[in-house]
Amino acid sequence: MTHLTKNFARPEKNEEVVTFGSLDPSVQELLTAAFQVRQRAYVPYSGFKVGAAFRAKDGGQIFSGCNVENAAFTPCSCAERTAVTKAVSEGATEFSAGAVLAYEPDVFTTPCGVCRQFIREFANEDIPIYVAQAFDARISEKKDVLQSEDPVLCTSIFNLLPSSFHTYRK
Ligand SMILES: [Zn+2]
Repeated sequence: MTHLTKNFARPEKNEEVVTFGSLDPSVQELLTAAFQVRQRAYVPYSGFKVGAAFRAKDGGQIFSGCNVENAAFTPCSCAERTAVTKAVSEGATEFSAGAVLAYEPDVFTTPCGVCRQFIREFANEDIPIYVAQAFDARISEKKDVLQSEDPVLCTSIFNLLPSSFHTYRK
């Protein structure tokens, strides 16, 4: 009976928290892109800004997106879905990594359940997801927006959404 679970999404790596400075420059660039696009977040209702960026596996292009709210509340788009939708509409459907930035003082902000499923659609293999805090004050203080000692959660879509729903009929 175990064959019925062998294709389940299982993470390739455990989650860990590392410093920004220890990450590969390509990951630092992805996190920085998420920080920058977060400044465009359209959040007149919640004020909660989120930025996301995904790197295309083919060609390495970064697609970034912010959250976009709506007066009717239901039709909101999260940053992750904005970024992935932009990528797919430009022809990129496979990703080597993703990054998500928001700010809560005492906790990392990880993708919501809907976004986890949305990312999973394009994850035939596990996709590393990097999560960090965004400190807006650094912009006006003209400091590096992400700094060497900043903590970064290194997780992945299969950590965030194990045993997930997926179609195997492609
Ligand atoms: Zn979401």
